[in-house]
Amino acid sequence: MKAHMITYGCQMNEYDTHLVQSQLVSFGADLVESIDEADFVLVNTCAVRGKPVDKVRSLLGQLRKVKSQRPLVVGMMGCLAQLEEGQQMARKFEVDVLLGPGSLLDIGAALESNGRFWGLQFKDELHEHIPPSPQGKLQAHLTIMRGCDHHCTYCIVPTTRGPQVSRSPDDILRELDLQLAAGVQEVTLLGQNVNAYGVDGGARLAGYPSFADLLRLVGKSGVRRIKFTTSHPMNFTEDVAAAMAETPAVCDFVHLPVQSGSSRVLRRMAREYSRETYLGHIAAIKKHLPSVVLATDIIVGFPGETEEDFQETLSLYDEVGYDSAYMFIYSPRPGTPSYKHFADLPRELKTERLQRLIVKQKEWSKLRNATKVGTVQEVLLRGDAHSEGFLEGHTRGNHPTVVPKAFGADGAGVYPVLIGHSTPHMLYGQIVGADGQPLPEIPQLEPQAAALSSPLQMA
Ligand code: SAM
Ligand code: SF4
Repeated sequence: MKAHMITYGCQMNEYDTHLVQSQLVSFGADLVESIDEADFVLVNTCAVRGKPVDKVRSLLGQLRKVKSQRPLVVGMMGCLAQLEEGQQMARKFEVDVLLGPGSLLDIGAALESNGRFWGLQFKDELHEHIPPSPQGKLQAHLTIMRGCDHHCTYCIVPTTRGPQVSRSPDDILRELDLQLAAGVQEVTLLGQNVNAYGVDGGARLAGYPSFADLLRLVGKSGVRRIKFTTSHPMNFTEDVAAAMAETPAVCDFVHLPVQSGSSRVLRRMAREYSRETYLGHIAAIKKHLPSVVLATDIIVGFPGETEEDFQETLSLYDEVGYDSAYMFIYSPRPGTPSYKHFADLPRELKTERLQRLIVKQKEWSKLRNATKVGTVQEVLLRGDAHSEGFLEGHTRGNHPTVVPKAFGADGAGVYPVLIGHSTPHMLYGQIVGADGQPLPEIPQLEPQAAALSSPLQMA
């Protein structure tokens, strides 16, 4: 079998795609790069906002057409598969295999079924499953918990991913050891609310450390860089900031989604913290980590958001001074309390607020990135950038960075980089040697010159 997977959504979906791909390989499938080459196409879906749902709908339409022309098995997994909305789509577009986020290990049974297979249960075995490490990659994700016990009024995740289940520290450390053996240098611990790690359904699990202590444990593994996402402000404790400060491998980077700067809107979102408590967490983080890089998520145009509420979001942005932000227009999702009980604001109003927020974000990202010019940053370079002769990667603070290839550093690796220039979205620098001086760049040959110097031309 030749299998092709297409992934929408968050890092957790990327992790799940890797998990299912490794299962497919263990069942003898070849992974291929395009729909054209595949006889099994599996789409990993996102249901958090309307846009990714629309993308899946149009892709499934395309796949149905292909299916009418040649034999093809179509599968759908992830958040949308768990919802009635996704199941209706599956019926309409003749999807053969449907796997909810809790049934990923049913992929083998789905392949054997040779027909229609729907797996929608939340199965315990998934939490103990350790996927093989991604090969040849410096970066890896590591899921430390699945599901979510919160009920933010706008969010569909608790329905699609079920209640929170923390993975055991032993399984987490075992998976990390495999990743380290495969050469991973940066691990990102994943969960919907990592600060609630080990407290499932409101009760602390015997033998499970707090998230702060888990960071300390992971820090002893020998991994070079540790990041984590997402950190819910409600369960944030100062001990997490303290653990970060005392664990050198943990990067000075915190993604703490605020969603809104207005306590009134936060109450309607059922976020269970106020503007003031959120700012208190930021103060604690800055006290322990003076050079911390801060990122957030913001939803604009939540039902009932007034201009004054929105102004509070803008002023909170200034108070915190975020390095970056993911900004979303509120998207009413069927099945959520806000969809049921609150009227959506007009589209133009939401779009206009988003534009104003983006201006604010760009101002701050420009300022914050400019402070990196002239400094040396540890950059994990993943490989070739879009422009020939350049490599791309990111700093410990997650700043996207581009450098020219240099002699002795022309591929993936972790290097010190002297930052020479910045924009709101990118840092540009040069790899430096042990003496702190930039390594000589590999000169870029003009296409003409390159052709002339090729052995064929010279012969
Ligand atoms: N668990 C994380 C937390 O509580 O911060 C967030 C997970 S959610 C998958 C990622 C982000 O999507 C949220 O932080 C929120 O900003 C955004 N989001 C979720 N539901 C949304 C909706 N209905 N409309 C717009 N944005 C939404
Ligand atoms: Fe959704 Fe809230 Fe859970 Fe995050 S904490 S996944 S936003 S319900």
